[in-house]
Amino acid sequence: MFSLINPANQSFLSEHQYITDETTQNKISISGKAYVNWRPETIYKRLNFIKSLIFELTKNQHLLAKSCTQEMGKPIKQSLSEIDKCKLLCEYYLQNAEKFLQSNKISTNGSESFVVYEPLGVILGVMPWNFPYWQVFRFAIPAIIAGNTVVVKHASNVAGCAQLIEKLFIDAGFPEGVYQNLLIAGKQVKAVIDNPLIKGVSVTGSEKAGTEVASAAAAQVKKAVLELGGSNALIVLSDANLDEAMPAIINARFQNTGQSCIAAKRYLVHKDIYDNFLERFTKGISALKMGDPMDEQTTLGPLARTDLAQEVQKQVDDSVAMGAKIVLGGKRNDAFYDATVLTNVTPDMPIFKEEVFGPAVPVVPFDTFEEAVKLSNSTDFGLGVSIFTADVAFIKSKIHLFEEGAVFINDLVKSDPALPFGGVKRSGFGRELAENGLKEFVNVKTVFIK
Ligand code: NAP
Repeated sequence: MFSLINPANQSFLSEHQYITDETTQNKISISGKAYVNWRPETIYKRLNFIKSLIFELTKNQHLLAKSCTQEMGKPIKQSLSEIDKCKLLCEYYLQNAEKFLQSNKISTNGSESFVVYEPLGVILGVMPWNFPYWQVFRFAIPAIIAGNTVVVKHASNVAGCAQLIEKLFIDAGFPEGVYQNLLIAGKQVKAVIDNPLIKGVSVTGSEKAGTEVASAAAAQVKKAVLELGGSNALIVLSDANLDEAMPAIINARFQNTGQSCIAAKRYLVHKDIYDNFLERFTKGISALKMGDPMDEQTTLGPLARTDLAQEVQKQVDDSVAMGAKIVLGGKRNDAFYDATVLTNVTPDMPIFKEEVFGPAVPVVPFDTFEEAVKLSNSTDFGLGVSIFTADVAFIKSKIHLFEEGAVFINDLVKSDPALPFGGVKRSGFGRELAENGLKEFVNVKTVFIK
């Protein structure tokens, strides 16, 4: 038995019990049976269910948003936007999935050759709490449209959101077993992967969870997609238009109260504009409103759990002990942690070299562009980088220098259903979204006729 606690006021929300391994295996059997009927369905039939799902998302938008805000503290306006984004994803695949899944003719020395894209079976998703709906949707929707069925092990601290997602699929009329929620603990995941019906797994979460799940999948020769941590740099060159860029620059770190894998976590600013930048940046951050996440005016909520706020506090305090200076914030109150800015930061400090999953950021000056690239690449992660400059042509010629899954110029790194999303280095492998995401869990079958 475990309880969910509202991080904003520490009040009790609900109590949950993990299902047993036996119940879990029974549920996987149901998904296996559902696959037998789902696989031969036409793409049109599958997409019709997605249309009903959009209707359910719209109908339940406020209920879903409230549950997310209560369970993990996301400011309510951002929770509502997250549901809009799920709808956008569904609409994107409604328009594009048929085209993406069409067979391709290939010219060879045979009389005919082509490739078809077929589903694999039951796919497991292991999902995090930070975007409790969006993360699940961006995994499950393409997998289901491609003809797979899915089982989802969601993060325990958003168990209520997880149940609501399953209900959306049921209410949208999906056949039983196409989407199932597995309320299980992390240690129960290996037995799921070992079940022969499971044909692949997608993990979004920490490096630790990713390596354990991917190892279990590798031992069974099953495909894994890993969307893990990040420590994106945000680089501001001396010619950047700060007036225009500042809202995006602030949002890049502080949206979702800093709890995003693709958040900018290390700010690198050219020394010629450093002081001016710091003044405007801290002024902009001071205007953020921390408070009750159910209040529509709130822009910074609590972190999702008190232990997560304590972790950020430790990373800041340890960096200060090594010589960093706090120029804004630096205080914790239960799960709330101030928007915090640090200077005098060196690359060996936790605030720079570790992933910081909360609203604290180092601002580091650089001299040459080469130095900025070196600092940007100096972590083990490789999700993305943002570069702000007036000279777009210059940056376009330097994109190859960045060891990242994404380079965003004059904007924050963000996910878009039409753009492939994923990382390199210890941020993981594989891609979600776009055509790439739809084809992660398919059998790319080659046909050759002499
Ligand atoms: P987490 O602790 O790794 O949890 C993620 C999921 O993995 C949860 O469902 C968790 O279940 C499960 N889990 C934990 N340990 C496991 C294990 N040993 N075996 C199997 N499953 C296990 O991560 P989080 O704290 O929820 O999320 C924050 C992390 O996710 C950050 O590093 C962030 O950067 C990353 N993230 C990456 C992306 C991306 O797209 N690259 C997106 C969002 C977040 P329990 O909750 O039951 O422990």
